[in-house]
Amino acid sequence: MVIGVDIDNTIKDTQRAAVKVYNRKLNRTVKVEDVREFYLDQAYGLTPQEGRKLWRSLEEEIYRIGVPLQNAARVLNELADEGHRIYFITARPGTKNIEAITRKWLKKYGFPYTGDNLVMNAQDKAKVAKILGVELFFEDAPNHLENLVKNKVPVVIVDAVYNRLFPVPLKRITDWEQVHDLVQEMENQKKQRSRKV
Ligand SMILES: [Mg+2]
Repeated sequence: MVIGVDIDNTIKDTQRAAVKVYNRKLNRTVKVEDVREFYLDQAYGLTPQEGRKLWRSLEEEIYRIGVPLQNAARVLNELADEGHRIYFITARPGTKNIEAITRKWLKKYGFPYTGDNLVMNAQDKAKVAKILGVELFFEDAPNHLENLVKNKVPVVIVDAVYNRLFPVPLKRITDWEQVHDLVQEMENQKKQRSRKV
C-alpha cells in the first residue's frame, strides 16, 4: 500500500515543542495540556496575524526540537519492511533550511526516510496524495483533513484535542500501535474489491 504521513503532530510532538519555544520567547508558563486549539494564538493572547508572524520567526527551532510520538518510528519501519511505500507529506515551507532540518530529524529518530520520500510545502495534500497514489493518509490538522476527505483520499485522523469535533466520522488512532490492524483491514478490503471486479 502507498501510505502518506503528515509530520507535525502526526509523527512528531510538535505542539509540545512549540509551547516550550513560545514560553521562552514570550516569558510565559503555558502548559501544552491547556492548549485546546490547533494554533497557539489563543493560548498566548495573540491575533492570528501576530501568531503567524511569531510562528514564522520560531518555526525552525520548533521543527528542530521535539520528539516522535510514541511508536511512530517503529511501526512505520515495520510497515516499510512489509513492503508498504511510505511518503512523508508536510505543509512545512520547502526552504533549504527547513527541508534540511526535517530530513535530519527524520534520520535522527530512525524513520524510514529513504532520501526521496519527503514532500515539503504540501499546501494541497489531496493533490500530492493523488499524484503519489496514496491509498491511506495519516493527518491531524482539521484543514488538511477536510481537503483530503473532500477529494476522497482515504484518511485516518491522528487524535488531538483540536480534531475531536471533526464532523466526518473517520477512523482515528491515538497510538501508532493501532496502525498495523488498520492497514491489514484496509488491505483485506482492497483484496475483496479486486476479487469482485
Ligand atoms: Mg500535522
